[in-house]
Amino acid sequence: KHIGPLVKTTMTRCIQCTRCVRFSTEVAGVTDLGLIGRGEDVEITSYLEAAMTSELQGNIIDLCPVGALTSKPYEFKARPWELTKTESIDVMDAVGTSIRVDSRANEVMRVMPRLNESVNEEWLSDKGRFIFDGLKTQRLDRPYLRVNGKLAPVSWAEAFAAIAAKVKATTPQKIGALAGQLASVEDMFALQALMKALGSSNIDARYPGSPLHPKHGRASYLFNSTIAGIEEADAILIIGSNPRHEAPVLNARIRKRYLKGGLSVALVGERADLTYPYSYEGAGPESLEAAASKLFAGKTKPMVIVGQGALNRADGAAVLAAAAKLAKAHGALTAEWNGFNILHTEASLVGALDIGFVPFEGGLDTTGMIKAGALDVLYLLGVDEVEIPAGAFVIYQGTHGDRGAHRADVILPSATYTEKSGLYVNTEGRVQLASRAIFPPGEAREDWAVIRGFAEAMGLALPFDSLTGLRKALYTAHPHFVVLGAIESGAISSVEALADSGAGVSKEPFHAAIKDYHLTNAIARASRVMGECASIAQRPVAVAAE
Ligand code: SF4
Repeated sequence: KHIGPLVKTTMTRCIQCTRCVRFSTEVAGVTDLGLIGRGEDVEITSYLEAAMTSELQGNIIDLCPVGALTSKPYEFKARPWELTKTESIDVMDAVGTSIRVDSRANEVMRVMPRLNESVNEEWLSDKGRFIFDGLKTQRLDRPYLRVNGKLAPVSWAEAFAAIAAKVKATTPQKIGALAGQLASVEDMFALQALMKALGSSNIDARYPGSPLHPKHGRASYLFNSTIAGIEEADAILIIGSNPRHEAPVLNARIRKRYLKGGLSVALVGERADLTYPYSYEGAGPESLEAAASKLFAGKTKPMVIVGQGALNRADGAAVLAAAAKLAKAHGALTAEWNGFNILHTEASLVGALDIGFVPFEGGLDTTGMIKAGALDVLYLLGVDEVEIPAGAFVIYQGTHGDRGAHRADVILPSATYTEKSGLYVNTEGRVQLASRAIFPPGEAREDWAVIRGFAEAMGLALPFDSLTGLRKALYTAHPHFVVLGAIESGAISSVEALADSGAGVSKEPFHAAIKDYHLTNAIARASRVMGECASIAQRPVAVAAE
């Protein structure tokens, strides 16, 4: 039976326990699988042999007790006892799912979830589980320099010398750095130190328009109720977000809460199938007040979830303030309950805000830096999602030959999240460590080491010589990174202060932050399996004839 590119079936092994059916209908909230027939003719089927559409379908592999459902990309590739198992963290979204990376020699063979009741319970999103073939393809494995319009391979020394010449030929005000969605805290801390040493104030990790800023306090950019806290909520207002695509595992937690009963959900933004019923209250900010008054009346633990689609826009600051105002006015901010939540879509952003990877005093933000002519030199740390105009000399430090590398004048190859040890902070503000399972290919190096190497080539002193030294400096500057797995809560007063700030929302509808769930980053776009899933997701749904 064909049920898609992710799960292989060997139905002669099936004992019809229906665990896969119950998972997909109850946890994932889709009706892709079912049991048809009676008696000895009973069989598990996806009806019409259609591919499954859930973003959590890989989990049925783990829960099938007899191996009737197995991983298609992993089939016949390795034996479990050959694999080295590394406990790590998924970075495909901002949930921070606990994973185990299984590798053989220098190749990732499969990724599986680890039990973490506070974050992902026992589930893992399909992107986190099946992206690993993208770690091997389109890799940047040596430095490149654009010569006469074409990228040519060069040595590290030549690449650094070319950058140094450009940096020395301009002023610090004309140099900037952007960090991308897969950067670890250490990578950004190192780049921040480099920019400080160069005398530039232009650094940012946010999308154009994003109002999130550490100056408003940590609670202003965290998912304060926590993921496990969703189970206590009695009303949820989702603003400009599709949690099913932006954080599938977190969305499963909302569905779990809905199944318990007594939860009302409303959505303001783009309509979507969220796997649980909700009342649709409008497309844009003008619907917020009425939606909140209707939804939150008589509720004791209301939650506001603000997505990046509501924030990464010209009136983002006003929307953030309006959402905080709703939370304050409708009882979501009390001594026992903080119901104001920002749902992040990218693994790096909370860490970036925690270390202050935003413009220094007088510096340019992302919008300012990507204006044509604003900068002479732009350092991209794995940035592939932002359109970079022509003009500036672009340094792309990253892992894949994706959008950023195509625009680059110099390419510095670096390590993916499975090839380095790095801290990530999830949307709740939980500090977690991703561990190295394999080594980077060819001449690629860990990001902090590349930045340190360039600083040395420039004759600049950074306050660390090793990863241990870097972490020591990081812990001194930001002590909350010391405790792994814990959340340092933000103060409710910062959300209250936010509520009293700004005004002037526009009438523009909110748009989803993620257009194509399977292709959100450079690794995903390099993955053949994700490409296949994306093309299935884009196909029109087949309707059975009577
Ligand atoms: Fe059959 Fe496995 Fe599904 Fe149970 S979980 S019904 S054994 S395919």
